Amino acid sequence: METFKAHISNSFTEELPADQVNENTRRQVHKACFSYVTPKTTRKPELLHVSDAMLEALGISEVESQTDDFLNVFTGNKVLAGTRPYAMCYGGHQFGNWAGQLGDGRAINLTEIDYNQKHWALQLKGAGETPYSRTADGLAVLRSSIREYLCSEAMYHLGVPTTRALSLALTGDQVLRDMLYNGNAAHEKGAVVCRVAPSFLRFGNFEIFAARGETETLKTLVDYTIKHFFTDLGAPSKDTYLAFFKAVSERTLKMIIDWQRVGFVHGVMNTDNMSVLGLTIDYGPYGWLEGFDYGWTPNTTDSQHKRYRYGNQPNIGLWNLYQLANALYPLIEEAEGLQDVLEDYKINFEKQSLEMMRSKLGLVEQDDSDLKLIQNLEDNLLLIETDMTIFFRKLSDFKMHDPESGLKIIQDAFYAPEELVPDIADKWSAWFQNYAKRLQKESNSDVARSKVMNQVNPKYVLRNYMAQMAIDQADQGDYSLIDELYQLLKQPYAEQPEFEKWFARRPEWARHKVGCSMLSCSS
Ligand code: AMP
Ligand code: MG
Repeated sequence: METFKAHISNSFTEELPADQVNENTRRQVHKACFSYVTPKTTRKPELLHVSDAMLEALGISEVESQTDDFLNVFTGNKVLAGTRPYAMCYGGHQFGNWAGQLGDGRAINLTEIDYNQKHWALQLKGAGETPYSRTADGLAVLRSSIREYLCSEAMYHLGVPTTRALSLALTGDQVLRDMLYNGNAAHEKGAVVCRVAPSFLRFGNFEIFAARGETETLKTLVDYTIKHFFTDLGAPSKDTYLAFFKAVSERTLKMIIDWQRVGFVHGVMNTDNMSVLGLTIDYGPYGWLEGFDYGWTPNTTDSQHKRYRYGNQPNIGLWNLYQLANALYPLIEEAEGLQDVLEDYKINFEKQSLEMMRSKLGLVEQDDSDLKLIQNLEDNLLLIETDMTIFFRKLSDFKMHDPESGLKIIQDAFYAPEELVPDIADKWSAWFQNYAKRLQKESNSDVARSKVMNQVNPKYVLRNYMAQMAIDQADQGDYSLIDELYQLLKQPYAEQPEFEKWFARRPEWARHKVGCSMLSCSS
């Protein structure tokens, strides 16, 4: 890995204060952004998959990826010369409450590199204990690692800002987990994912210093973040800090609008899981909408209040930004500018949400009737269980001079077509009539519209049951489906007729199956 090694560039550890204690004991870490740690060696590491796209981005050749060096470095069994692994200190609001220090409890950063005009930090998830592991073991199981590995790459190819993944490996160790938190702990295969992002900094990295009144360290970290990741904002000043908050707010909103567009539900939008770069981060009990439903969350830990349900994600983004605003306040000491940014988030959400829905409907121009058309559509989608992905993808076949065919075109999206009673069918017919009229005001032809729609409405997403099938097979020692899904999801907007079987409604067996519709935070 000569090219890779030649591009090592560790700004985080070089420019930010380190924990002075080097022991790996659980503790509160003060006035430091990170602690040096050593990944745990594993019994029998085995690579299950490597992302060719990420290899290329990092300057690692395919041949190099097949060496023992690669295997050992990216499973934590060997520390690369010139690097010193570390865990970051952060706090966070979990489910609406301040939770104090959290930190990288089972993520260990290996190094950063500058390659091809891009900066990357590499991090192992599941590589053992750190000072931030609290009561847990620092490990990860195969099922959650497959889910993170496949979904983060899938999100990237969908055009949603996200952390990436380089590799997925078994550790050869067993990990004890009580998957449903119901007293049935069992051993599962341990795994490590090497994930990659320009930075893994979270809202919580800033919150922790504000909460502790460590304003100096807070300033050091904010200055570092702006210098490296918000380079166009300028020298440190109150105005720059405000501009930084505005930029974070805008990126966060863009990310959430993308989630809404593709039907992704993060599941645990705690502030420690919010990237300050506006990347989707920490793939835990996430899920994809099958039936369109604002109230849906895959996370059983959140089943009572559904704080992180699909329809609430934009509000939670705002709530989380309030927490970040509070954290940055000591550097700005004026609430007004921060409040203006938060107000802008609300206004921009309305605008961008409308624009996003227009794009899903293939509307290029603006018309005053659009909001009503979209609201009526959303009402209709809730009448009977309607698959979001199939609905929008099939809608691109709609012909503006043949609204009567509308229902037929999208009928595959209905989970129970027999529920389409006359009253409901009438509502759909009315909507298709209005949609046809609206399309006739556009200059695009049916063909041109279909093409643009198919660039925003994916044909393939990582449906919850698909990930679960890959997991079930992997548990049996068959890893082929991981690669099949990885390949499929590289081109989510392409037709890919050879993969047509994945363009289908969720099968009935998966409706209430653990791992498909119900996921806990246990991972
Ligand atoms: P999450 O809900 O996965 O984002 O995790 C919340 C906090 O718990 C973070 O500080 C994680 O590092 C920590 N954590 C989660 N799972 C483990 C684990 N198995 N071992 C140690 N820390 C963990
Ligand atoms: Mg997390």
